[in-house]
Amino acid sequence: MTTQEMIAVYTNRMAKKQAAGRPIYDDLILAAKDGRCPLCGQRPVSTLDHHLPKTLYPALAVDPLNLVPSCADCNKLKLDVTPRSSEEETLHPYFDDVEHDSWLKAEVIEVAPAALRFFVDPPAAWSPTLIRRARLHFKTFGMASLYASQAAQELGNIKYYLTQLYEVGQKRGAQRVQDHLAEQAESRRRAHINSWQSATYQALADSAWYCDGGFAK
Ligand SMILES: [Zn+2]
Repeated sequence: MTTQEMIAVYTNRMAKKQAAGRPIYDDLILAAKDGRCPLCGQRPVSTLDHHLPKTLYPALAVDPLNLVPSCADCNKLKLDVTPRSSEEETLHPYFDDVEHDSWLKAEVIEVAPAALRFFVDPPAAWSPTLIRRARLHFKTFGMASLYASQAAQELGNIKYYLTQLYEVGQKRGAQRVQDHLAEQAESRRRAHINSWQSATYQALADSAWYCDGGFAK
């Protein structure tokens, strides 16, 4: 089969609403945890992404293992990635075993209002290839700006609560705020170790500046 024919099989027999393969397509979409896109971990799933592009790897166009549930934005952003080697691939959310290690981190920027900067902080045990792919993944899906804007909203939402906590705590206000944020980080880590929420709360708890009134600036 030619590339065009393989792509046509995918489009006509799987992706179309009445196609015979459509139940497989729907099952793959439903496989995403909480209905969230596993590529960005943020937006709702609405399509299937070909992990290796169907134009370059036509034989994998209909292989379920090459089909990853995805949001429309990530699916579009990934069109620019044409991997020629495994180093040039973004992470495969189900085959790349990256969820046992914490690799998404954030740090507080001491400005008014406080902001967060996200980055990839790979564990020492990772191979250079995996590190390169994680960084490519982070860059390709625009995670820095996506997560920074989510975090900014979160900081606005918790400002009032932290202010109350700080005032009630009096001289130990900063400690109370820090204890609270550390607990929140732990709770989020147990749900998803590399979510922007886990990285956010850990960064907030680690920032003495933020805990000692930075939250209210
Ligand atoms: Zn996405």
